[in-house]
Amino acid sequence: MYPELGLYIDGKWRRAEGRISEPVINPATEQAIADLWHASDDDLQDALAAAKRAFSQWRKVSPYDRARLLRKAADFLRGRRDEVALTLTLEQGKILAESRGEVDAAADIIEWAADEGRRTYGRLIAGRTSDIRQLVVPEPVGPAAAFTPWNFPATTPARKISTALAAGCPIVIKAAEETPGTCVEIVRAFDEAGVPPGVIGLVFGKPAHVSETLIASPIIRKISFTGSVPVGKHLTRLAADGMKRVTMELGGHSPAIVFNDADAAQAARILVGGKYRNAGQVCIAPSRFYVHSDIEDEFVSAFVAEAKKLKLGDGADASTTMGPMANVRRLDAMDRFMSDPALGGETLLGGARTGNRGYFYEPTVVHNASDEAKLMREEPFGPIAPIAKFDDFDEVIAKANALPYGLAAYVFTASTKTALAASDEIESGMVAVNSLSMTLTETPMGGVKDSGQGYEGGIEGIEGYLNRKYVSLM
Ligand code: NAD
Repeated sequence: MYPELGLYIDGKWRRAEGRISEPVINPATEQAIADLWHASDDDLQDALAAAKRAFSQWRKVSPYDRARLLRKAADFLRGRRDEVALTLTLEQGKILAESRGEVDAAADIIEWAADEGRRTYGRLIAGRTSDIRQLVVPEPVGPAAAFTPWNFPATTPARKISTALAAGCPIVIKAAEETPGTCVEIVRAFDEAGVPPGVIGLVFGKPAHVSETLIASPIIRKISFTGSVPVGKHLTRLAADGMKRVTMELGGHSPAIVFNDADAAQAARILVGGKYRNAGQVCIAPSRFYVHSDIEDEFVSAFVAEAKKLKLGDGADASTTMGPMANVRRLDAMDRFMSDPALGGETLLGGARTGNRGYFYEPTVVHNASDEAKLMREEPFGPIAPIAKFDDFDEVIAKANALPYGLAAYVFTASTKTALAASDEIESGMVAVNSLSMTLTETPMGGVKDSGQGYEGGIEGIEGYLNRKYVSLM
């Protein structure tokens, strides 16, 4: 069921052949499910050289023809949706329903990028004299290097690969070593669609070594990373040495503010769905809950009651509604949040690992944790929900804006005036009011402050892969 893993370089798959390997672990069982081969330095140089060769051709393929190949890849992926979803669940842990949704979303993203490439327009600017024409021409920036994490192993690589290709850029991608199978399946879809050799390279290895090698290469002109803030800052510094463009989609600690005119029970139900999806390992998950004191009791009991309904288990089991954490590092991180001497408050639900096998952590609710607690200041990236109360608008906005993050925010209110005021004041790349609707294919995703640089998705996504050349004609 799990695919044969490999490196994809210059249109061919490379496998063991003396390379070092690491096991891929199923987080629900802790069993090894495959061996992943690491790229040697020669492999990395081959992938770079292939990307350079491919660029000279791929940039000249018309956006119309590029779109046809991308659409085909989306169809191949959709055709294997259930198989790829099972691979995703086996290596990452999320429940099958979420994995299927993610594979569908990955196919949608590829189609969106295909069409967006066809809608990449230039500009004609009036000259200062009648005999001059001034053009602004979009051009691909050049080969890109991309680094994707383990929490969304289908949509993240699909977005980076398809946007680069639609813009005319080859891409060398290092997907997460913990979840390689899903990216192998995505690259296979592009390969079967007929994307020429060298346009996509897929490599794995020691993340720091691969990223340093690729980013230092003069062939690479663009870096795209999704992951943690410290790694994003590190890669941005490396990119600065070569003055390379970056798109950084980093972490968040998203406030969810529930005002006293909101339907407390409904808000709790919606927010539990968002908080515990993928066991909380979602960069845009609502993760700090501020509830007006008038409706605090009602919200807290509804939230706990809803969270109690979650059925923790192997994501491949159809009755499971929350899977394990993706790796043992996240379990350790949950322990650190809960054993923090500054935590304070009261743990109303969960608070511990569970089971003898697999990386399972209970859905957890902490009421009134101290503002100084790690849980209120650092991205939890796990199933721990801190709920605190507030009394007035300025106070809660100050709390929402108190952290260096600025990725997503959620507001629940019946008042349009409050909704607009809150969305104006919150320092965040995205705000959803009365729902979790965010990061759709057609909407831009990006953070402010430490949460990132640039955008993915929407009409903004492709700009990160384009230069705008000015040409004057007389
Ligand atoms: P981490 O910081 O070690 O790694 C995050 C990701 O970056 C991983 O995919 C990893 O392979 C990659 N990475 C690490 N060092 C790298 C390097 N030098 N060059 C290139 N890639 C590198 O942390 P982790 O334990 O894997 O995840 C924990 C934290 O990462 C979470 O708390 C969360 O803040 C963040 N994270 C964010 C996202 C997101 O969607 N923004 C996704 C995954 C992880």
